[in-house]
Amino acid sequence: MTNAMRWTNWSGFVAGSPQQILTPDSLDGVVEAVKTAPGPLRVVGAGHSFTPLARTDGTMLSLEKFEGLVSHDEAAAVARVRAGTRLGSLMQLLQEVGQGLPNMGDIDKQAIGGALGTATHGSGRVLGAYHTQLQATQFVDGRGGLRELTLEMDRDLIHATGVALGSFGVLTEVTLKNIPTYRLHRRKWVLPIKEMLAQFEPMMGAHRSAEFYYVPFSGHAQFIASDLSDTPVSPRPPEEDEAGLATLRKLRTALRRAPWLRGLIIRSVMARLPAEDYVQDWLNVYASDRRTRFNEMEYHLPFEEGPRALAEIIELTEKRFPEVYFPMEVRSVAADEFWLSPFYRRPTCSIAIHHDAANDPLPFMRAAEPIFRRYGGRPHWGKMHSLKATDFETLYPRWRDAMDVRRDIDPQGRFVSPYMADLFGLK
Ligand SMILES: Cc1cc2nc3c(=O)[nH]c(=O)nc-3n(C[C@H](O)[C@H](O)[C@H](O)COP(=O)(O)OP(=O)(O)OC[C@H]3O[C@@H](n4cnc5c(N)ncnc54)[C@H](O)[C@@H]3O)c2cc1C
Repeated sequence: MTNAMRWTNWSGFVAGSPQQILTPDSLDGVVEAVKTAPGPLRVVGAGHSFTPLARTDGTMLSLEKFEGLVSHDEAAAVARVRAGTRLGSLMQLLQEVGQGLPNMGDIDKQAIGGALGTATHGSGRVLGAYHTQLQATQFVDGRGGLRELTLEMDRDLIHATGVALGSFGVLTEVTLKNIPTYRLHRRKWVLPIKEMLAQFEPMMGAHRSAEFYYVPFSGHAQFIASDLSDTPVSPRPPEEDEAGLATLRKLRTALRRAPWLRGLIIRSVMARLPAEDYVQDWLNVYASDRRTRFNEMEYHLPFEEGPRALAEIIELTEKRFPEVYFPMEVRSVAADEFWLSPFYRRPTCSIAIHHDAANDPLPFMRAAEPIFRRYGGRPHWGKMHSLKATDFETLYPRWRDAMDVRRDIDPQGRFVSPYMADLFGLK
């Protein structure tokens, strides 16, 4: 146990003062904490969410000692892992047993329990978010009881609890359906945003994984495509993202009142970027090193609404928010069957906007959110939004069913912090 009186998330925007942070190293320890620790009890993964999901002034429970591979089945490409395992070490563990995660997001710092908890995702029209890999879960419910679910026997419950926001028990182990290890051919190139938006559907669909970044004020996007490959590996070029951000920040500061000149310079820098083109094993491709701290909002929209929503977000940013310099990230995600998944029965286009953590993100986020909402957007659970239970009832067809399951798993509200009570409409 540590007496840590102040806790902040990755960006520093969410802060809290838990009475204690517990790091149990056994199932008995988790059960004991759930039964006796002062509430509200919130599990924390790597603290990389931008919403106060993990915040509590009661007990924060970290599963950092629940790390590693429990078992694996080579023929089925299935692996059971402890829920505190960070994605970075999960990749290595899987590679050693001949398995690969079918897809990944932008970083590998999250705990698998945390990534599942917010429907963390990468990009790919036919690729689902991490929770779609779930075959089985083991968790401690709100009464301290140990529960085991399998997709085969408990399909509905897995679909109800797979995206859990830390509110359906403490996840201790998960079984994931992976794929045999593979290689990706990764390419990046720059193109005018008008061209990108006009070709949105074919370009996003033409690759196993496709995404793009729009650089504010530039009129241009950087497109990233990844496809399976069996050719020999070639070196992954050094990452330029941090240096690029520093340049964009300097231009923003110097040319805030000269957007035309700012755009011209960014375009000329982008035009000189070498087109990236390499082949690497899956685990060396997806993750980037994000050192510049930011706050983020990401909305998941019906796929076909992506271009129109993005065009409005760009217009808003360039007319009213000259301080914004972070590229906007646009991805696609396959539909799934998980009740609290933002991708529930909906092929999705995800649009993410970012704001330097040194400045107040709220005016920008508040102005952008109505645009996302007008297009039927569902917010990323781990990224900034202002939605409440009444909104979720209309956005999630199985919201009430999920809330019933949650009550059954946690009848005394052990995992209900004030933020969660507000989100779930519990008063
Ligand atoms: C730099 C950066 C890049 C990012 N890139 C992406 C991206 O590419 N794609 C994307 O979708 N998101 C992305 N995110 C968001 C991030 O993936 C999610 O917020 C994710 O939930 C964070 O994982 P975590 O381990 O930090 O969990 P936390 O933020 O600590 O917790 C998230 C939720 O999971 C719950 N939880 C954690 N562990 C358990 C457990 N064992 N049992 C029960 N509940 C648990 C918590 O209670 C909480 O509700 C990014 C965030 C940052 C800061």
